[in-house]
Amino acid sequence: MNLDTLTTRETQNDTGSIAGKSQHAPFWSVADILALLDAPFNDLIYRAQTVHRQYHDPNGVQLSTLISVKTGGCPEDCGYCPQAARYHTGVKNQNMLSLDEVVGAAAAAKAKGASRFCMGAAWRGPKQRDIEKMTEMVRAVKSLGMETCATLGLLKPGQAQQLGEAGLDYYNHNLDTAPEFYEEIITTRQYQDRLNTLREVRDAGINVCCGGIVGMGETRQSRAGLIAQLANLNPYPESVPINHLVQVEGTPLYGTAALDPLEFVRTIAAARITMPKAMVRISAGRQEMSDAIQALCFIAGANSIFYGDKLLTTDNPETDRDRTLMEKLGLHALS
Ligand code: SF4
Repeated sequence: MNLDTLTTRETQNDTGSIAGKSQHAPFWSVADILALLDAPFNDLIYRAQTVHRQYHDPNGVQLSTLISVKTGGCPEDCGYCPQAARYHTGVKNQNMLSLDEVVGAAAAAKAKGASRFCMGAAWRGPKQRDIEKMTEMVRAVKSLGMETCATLGLLKPGQAQQLGEAGLDYYNHNLDTAPEFYEEIITTRQYQDRLNTLREVRDAGINVCCGGIVGMGETRQSRAGLIAQLANLNPYPESVPINHLVQVEGTPLYGTAALDPLEFVRTIAAARITMPKAMVRISAGRQEMSDAIQALCFIAGANSIFYGDKLLTTDNPETDRDRTLMEKLGLHALS
């Protein structure tokens, strides 16, 4: 199948809405997405930019700030994660932050231009007492006039509803990779567990933030498989973070062969084409990317970044570098 056929089909059939209420987007096979990833780079980027301009402000970038409200000591075994208790990575465990600390960080992020505040906790999933604290945080951050997002792990029935009632706008839960590669990366939770949590979130009326990680030693076919999983969620996520593995010494994935940065750009482009209304985020790994690669990602349809000095436990480009790059590219922050 050629790229024109794929893109034409996508633009004609997608009737999705950003709120995800009325989407019946087309089915994307892994082969369809592999055809995108295999296309000549110029063709792929041109198509991605064309789709991007149909649905988004071409020069707008949404800025999210992420804070770790509880760090380290996680019982899961995600092979990329320095917060897993079983790996010796030097990450210092930190109990749950106080409400005041979280509100102070949110206010500072807002003052620097962030419109969304994401709160992450290193749990397999939250206990009821954790949910109660999180709902307080969500209400307090919302009252500052910011969008709220949380990433707390697997949710039990009813927990998403409590977060939704507190006003949570987005819940992040990544699929990480393609189903066939998943067991190479994580064994303590199944792919279906993740899909179940995404269903809980969707049913509670909360927007879904869901993406994955590339550069973990997967094949291009597996990158296509990840994008197919995301694009075929019904509806597809409103927010799609694409992470580049940050290799942390002590984790099993430390020492993985580096991915060609242009493969990251191709993955962004495939996400943009297959999920045209989503906000596609260049997420972890931006610290290691040159300005030129980041610029290519924006051309390929990325329109969201994490903004701030830390991304949970790994460094994120300093806000000054972000501002300078945005100025150079003539990009502006979306409110
Ligand atoms: S990614 Fe999340 S669930 Fe996995 S080990 Fe890290 S903190 Fe735990």
